Amino acid sequence: MLLTAPRGTQDILPGASANWQYIEATVRDICRLYGYKEIRTPVFEHTELFLRGIGETTDVVSKEMYTFTDRGERSLTLRPENTAAVVRAFLEHKLYAESLLSKLFYIGPMFRYDRPQAGRYRQFHQFGIEALGSKGPAMDAEVIILAVQLLERLGLNDLKLFLNSVGCPECRPLYRTALQENLREKTEALCGDCQSRFERNPMRILDCKNPKCAEVSTGAPHIVDCLCEDCNAHFEHLKSLLAAAGIDFVLNPRLVRGLDYYTKTAFEIQYAPLGSQSAVCGGGRYDGLVAECGGQSTPSIGFAIGLERILLALEKQGLLPEVNNGIDVFVAPIGKENQSIAFKLLCDLRKNGLTADMDFMDRNIKGQMKQANKYPARFVAIIGDEEALQGKVMLKNMQSGIQELVDNIAVQNKIQLEMED
Ligand code: AMP
Repeated sequence: MLLTAPRGTQDILPGASANWQYIEATVRDICRLYGYKEIRTPVFEHTELFLRGIGETTDVVSKEMYTFTDRGERSLTLRPENTAAVVRAFLEHKLYAESLLSKLFYIGPMFRYDRPQAGRYRQFHQFGIEALGSKGPAMDAEVIILAVQLLERLGLNDLKLFLNSVGCPECRPLYRTALQENLREKTEALCGDCQSRFERNPMRILDCKNPKCAEVSTGAPHIVDCLCEDCNAHFEHLKSLLAAAGIDFVLNPRLVRGLDYYTKTAFEIQYAPLGSQSAVCGGGRYDGLVAECGGQSTPSIGFAIGLERILLALEKQGLLPEVNNGIDVFVAPIGKENQSIAFKLLCDLRKNGLTADMDFMDRNIKGQMKQANKYPARFVAIIGDEEALQGKVMLKNMQSGIQELVDNIAVQNKIQLEMED
């Protein structure tokens, strides 16, 4: 037990970390293009924040949180998602006073006590953005387009963007009542979870994964048919902006977020080749959340993308770039007596910005050449007795095979000149 990682967690080993760095670099680049700045918040928060910020009736809060009491008797929770924490930081540090609109992004681990399977873990990583301050549909369009552009830039083309509007505290109660009326006679056929959702959060019945519940709710009214004028105009405008930007979408009336502070736009991006865990991105507008957390009313929208799923998709499609482990130069002393000179050369080369390494395992010259090839190294700087005596180095260009005796102090220049050719 002690020698395995906890269930649902994964080590990212040296052979895989380059893939993560590639995805993260692409994320950072897209965020720079769109003007989103990074925010880093703690991995744990006061439990109360998630109870309020996600909602006590959600699965995430009621079943999946890693909650513990610390030595000061405080209830803390490993973050299951990051929107609530970003809102907390936004309020705590008065980011709203710095500019009318805060465009933020984060990358980091999240924790949910979920049933692990391919694409679903207990510690997983999300990239997310949050735009706090704008109520206009152009903000929604920007957020959605950023997600699509990121996924496309990584090479994922068969994406499906699902779109819905979940209304607002003005029009949703009417819809809620209409939905309850439609389902009231059929509640016995619902799963246990949905039976308890019927009173507390009936909209969540619509996105229950249980096929029985899906059948029961077939024919239920659609919220888009019950939107108030403001929500309807917002949704129509958003659709026209997406269409003008050439973004395809599919309307999905079952895409819901059942809590009061989720408003208007809800969206999800799926990548079908991932099978049962095909959702790669989920997002939406939350115009009521900042006020729920104690701030001034601040219309906001954001999304989160699961990075493990992106990685799985890229692996599946062979879209990960080849990793270059090569180095500029490998320093190879022949015999222990020449190790100090070699080590000094190694330090100088690195100080001057060349990627360099040497043997630390007392290998003979044959073993060292093998190691240099394994990297591969572009040059090998061999220092035997003769070279050491003359203050020189035998520099071998591994591509051309040409060897040249070079002054120890001139090795750096020689390598750089040859690399420029
Ligand atoms: P959510 O915060 O539930 O809307 O999830 C946003 C995205 O995070 C999903 O579309 C998934 O890509 C990813 N995700 C959510 N839960 C998990 C999990 N347990 N393991 C891996 N990825 C997850």
